[in-house]
Amino acid sequence: GDGIRARPAMRPPAAVVGMRLAEVDTPALLIDLDAFETNLRLMQQAIAGYNVQLRPHAKTHKCPTIALAQIALGAVGVCCQKVSEAEALVDGGVGDVLISNEVVGAAKVARVAALAQRARISICVDDPEQVVVLAAAMAQADPQSGLGDQATTLDVLVEIDVGAKRCGVAPGEPAVRLAQLVSQQPQLRFAGLQAYQGSAQHRRTVDERRAAIAAAAELAGHTRDLLQAAGIECPKITGGGTGTFLLEADSGIYNELQAGSYVFMDADYAANEWAGSGQPAFQQSLFVWTTVMSRTPGVRAVVDAGLKSSSVDSGLPTLADETPAKYVNVSDEHGVIALNGAPDYALGQKLKLIPGHCDPTVNMHDSFVCYRGDRVEAIWPITARGCAW
Ligand code: PLP
Ligand code: MN
Repeated sequence: GDGIRARPAMRPPAAVVGMRLAEVDTPALLIDLDAFETNLRLMQQAIAGYNVQLRPHAKTHKCPTIALAQIALGAVGVCCQKVSEAEALVDGGVGDVLISNEVVGAAKVARVAALAQRARISICVDDPEQVVVLAAAMAQADPQSGLGDQATTLDVLVEIDVGAKRCGVAPGEPAVRLAQLVSQQPQLRFAGLQAYQGSAQHRRTVDERRAAIAAAAELAGHTRDLLQAAGIECPKITGGGTGTFLLEADSGIYNELQAGSYVFMDADYAANEWAGSGQPAFQQSLFVWTTVMSRTPGVRAVVDAGLKSSSVDSGLPTLADETPAKYVNVSDEHGVIALNGAPDYALGQKLKLIPGHCDPTVNMHDSFVCYRGDRVEAIWPITARGCAW
């Protein structure tokens, strides 16, 4: 559409295409299109020399328009975390989605099987019960799926815990046993391993991240070798995020990368050490647009973007402009900026905030207001906003 949908309908849109950025009402979620497009290109260039495919994580943007742009530039498909996100992406025209997560519960599993009739769907497992339930749901959704190759199949990845202590079976023999069970189901295809090291992404130093991914790659490679010895082909080893993706690419073990945040970046990623990582300097492209709504001259300003406009789980937002002033305190609808010697802001002045964490911030907004220079160029609905089920 060309305007943010107002609720109720008589309320004017906060932004329309062609408007000056200065006129966009707040709080709004902005994308700087020049920076965003640069990030997409930088990623493709960074991995061009490696034997890896890019499958960016769409939980970051929840937006089919962006997923299709990533695919047009060379991505093989996208990842998402939730069944409802996958449905929104497929509805939006994305043909290949990895649900990089475990899915449990009869209703959800039935939806996965139905979605697999419409698009290429892959999914992670870390428990034999999930394997059996997925196979049964596929047989139910597609009566032909008992026929193996001639029928629709679901690609299943065995997730291994390579150090993040979240989901995943232990690498080595436990993973091989689960892969064997997957291969025995005619309705399922064993597609490989998910070996995502999430706890490495924000380790601040390059050395810490390098050590974590070296250990993860070693565990994944060992598991792949055991699979081979057991006669099970392992076509894919997938993982990697914005903090480490070049390490996975360079490992020679991983052949698919799942970075998501690189399209936008955030204050938490900005706090990582990047020099010496070899990774490109992604630009901040996502901002929360906010208005100064109250002032205590010489001391503070209060803006209209609080924790309902910018997530604070990974730290407070920062000010995009170079200034000694600092966003120091947050409540639901207010953000307090300490001036720290900076001149007073004008009442009604609009500012760009850099969110602490891009993914949950995106989930708070209905649309991206995309601008170039000082003009709104596009408005992209955040279609999978709220799709947590
Ligand atoms: N893959 C998985 C399984 C994830 O959970 C995440 C994020 O948490 C990512 C990839 C992408 O990470 P990032 O957004 O930090 O690039
Ligand atoms: Mn995140």
